[in-house]
Amino acid sequence: MVTEGEQNCCVGLGANPDRDGFVTLDACIMDEFSNCGSVAFLERIKHPISVARRVMEKTPHVMLVGIGAQQFAVAEGFPLEEQKLSPEAEKSYKDWLIKSEYKPPVINIEKKQGGHGPFAPAKLDNGEWNHDTIGMVAMDTNGNLSGSCTTSGAGFKMRGRLGDSPIIGAGLFVDNEVGACTATGQGEDVIRVAGSHSVVELMRQGLSPEMACKKVIERIIRIKGPKAKDIQVGFLAINKKGQVGAYSIHKGFEYAIRTNAGEQLVKAKFVMGE
Ligand code: ASP
Repeated sequence: MVTEGEQNCCVGLGANPDRDGFVTLDACIMDEFSNCGSVAFLERIKHPISVARRVMEKTPHVMLVGIGAQQFAVAEGFPLEEQKLSPEAEKSYKDWLIKSEYKPPVINIEKKQGGHGPFAPAKLDNGEWNHDTIGMVAMDTNGNLSGSCTTSGAGFKMRGRLGDSPIIGAGLFVDNEVGACTATGQGEDVIRVAGSHSVVELMRQGLSPEMACKKVIERIIRIKGPKAKDIQVGFLAINKKGQVGAYSIHKGFEYAIRTNAGEQLVKAKFVMGE
């Protein structure tokens, strides 16, 4: 929620807009009872993750999208905000408009700055890859698992495009008997392999969180073939023992671990070299 409220390029109302200039937000949440809620293509609401939680708690549905999601949010007391791009998003949108170049399946690897290119992750000057979704998996003091995921999605996407982040099983999956997983990176390629669900199923078969993430990353690389060099995907998982692991296609995926003992920023392992 803090990140959603900040004026940044990647999450919340100040983020990079779609190709028509509108910021559209996606979020989902899942608890230890397999209750889940999701909103997608949501405009002018500051905290999509809170609306997703209300969908879970107050409706018989899992997913609300677009104007219906917005109407529900307003009915629940969320204020309708004016869209205000962050200076960073404003600049990158203006830069993008000069060419208005849209390359759906391939990340613009020439983009050297942080933030979204046309499609989410971009390679940075230091050789690392950025990513932008905020995904969280958590274990409470009783050992119960839950998770959430929130994003503005890919910058300069087609109007109406959804990525993996609001989709239960793709951007997030929780099975309280086994583990939980969340994803970031190129949503289309996470959806293709039901990414987070696949990681949880591999943990069910006995793989550690790290190995389960790695297997699904390798599956994506196999499917993409040579095009894998142009995309970034990262998974972060926790199992029922509280063990945590992550893996990405390329360098640059970092995750934070917070326990009673303190906080730690960890660089995930990656499959493809530079
Ligand atoms: N997964 C998000 C999407 O495809 C973007 C990201 O994680 O950077 O919408």
